[in-house]
Amino acid sequence: MSSSTIVVVGAGVIGLTTAIRLIEAGYHVVIIAKDLPGDALTPMYASTAAGAHHLSFAADDDVLQRKVDKRTFDVMWGQIHNPAPGEEAEGAALRKLTQVEFYAEPGEKHIQFFEQLPDFRVLDPTSNANWKVSFTSLTMDTTPYLQALVARFEALGGELVRKSVSSLKEAVEFVSSFIPHLDAVEAVVNCTGLGSIYLEDVKDTTMYPVRGHVVVLDAPWINEGRTRQVGSLAAAESAGSRGGEGGSRTYIIPRKSGQVIIGGTREVNDWSEIPDPATALDIKIRALDLFPELSPKYEAANPVPPKPEDLDSIVLADVVGFRPARRDGLRLSQGEDMALHDARSVKVFHNYGHSGAGWQASWGCAEEVVALVVRKR
Ligand SMILES: Cc1cc2nc3c(=O)[nH]c(=O)nc-3n(C[C@H](O)[C@H](O)[C@H](O)COP(=O)(O)OP(=O)(O)OC[C@H]3O[C@@H](n4cnc5c(N)ncnc54)[C@H](O)[C@@H]3O)c2cc1C
Repeated sequence: MSSSTIVVVGAGVIGLTTAIRLIEAGYHVVIIAKDLPGDALTPMYASTAAGAHHLSFAADDDVLQRKVDKRTFDVMWGQIHNPAPGEEAEGAALRKLTQVEFYAEPGEKHIQFFEQLPDFRVLDPTSNANWKVSFTSLTMDTTPYLQALVARFEALGGELVRKSVSSLKEAVEFVSSFIPHLDAVEAVVNCTGLGSIYLEDVKDTTMYPVRGHVVVLDAPWINEGRTRQVGSLAAAESAGSRGGEGGSRTYIIPRKSGQVIIGGTREVNDWSEIPDPATALDIKIRALDLFPELSPKYEAANPVPPKPEDLDSIVLADVVGFRPARRDGLRLSQGEDMALHDARSVKVFHNYGHSGAGWQASWGCAEEVVALVVRKR
């Protein structure tokens, strides 16, 4: 065991996966976070509000994004099929299923990333209809998966403290105040998502929310994930952004628990926390158009188009979340060293700004940032 401590600020999917990989690398790790898994859902805690499925947005030439997304897929696939000791509860919160991607506009096609996933095929390749592909993918029951990460982190000896800090320095000084001198804090990893706008020693003004609204259904008979992409995925969503999650999409995400998440919306720079009934109605109309079997009243032998109110009896919740977007994309790098009041210096690393891809990139990004920490020892 190393004699040095790393402080991780944030306990979303990014902070928790990073903290586990740091412990496995031999560090003593303390997580400081305001929101923890199991709390009531809040839009600022994106990991609990997410869909969530593994459905990469990586552009064909985006080597890093392709790498972290594929690595995460492989880790999660392993947690289902061959879990390492301690990973069983994570595997139990994941679901493997057929995913079908529909492209609404003529000329739009799939990204190359999907071709490396199990069972990839182009559907109806000879027809003149719009493009469709299918493959096997994964979905996540978000809160149970995050709780499983916390349990594994603590079982490995990690410490988790609920605390809101105004700076990374405050987190480091707080942890330094209670750990033995020999375990001196060597580095801090910032995994605060949108919190990076407000931390005094980060103040990343290039961060912005991309609001998403989803409707949670109780529909255990749905066994397939579907997404319809309208417009180019490669299009940039705002001036200055690099694109990669462009256009708009409708998605249906069946979870292992039998819940089905329907969405989606992407409202750039919208901080409204309240679900809008008109948006919920629009989501239901789009989802039923893509997957009429969502309606409990749907009969295959008599396929009358279902109505949005048919879903009323199975709606569990409306949820709003803020995707932590960043104008120049993900920040996965070392920052400037931090000077403490006793003249010691602490290394600073960042792993935030994953926008709508934090779940599917989580393990890959954790391993990238831990490789940086280890290299800088
Ligand atoms: C509607 C919706 C659907 C989505 N669907 C998908 C999907 O299908 N697939 C996918 O991969 N991704 C999806 N995402 C995106 C994904 O949820 C995010 O990219 C990911 O959750 C970001 O994780 P994070 O850990 O960086 O941030 P968060 O989950 O927001 O966690 C941030 C952590 O930092 C802590 N923190 C912040 N500031 C402070 C402070 N000052 N002091 C102490 N602690 C602080 C918070 O309390 C929290 O613990 C979706 C998001 C939304 C909203």
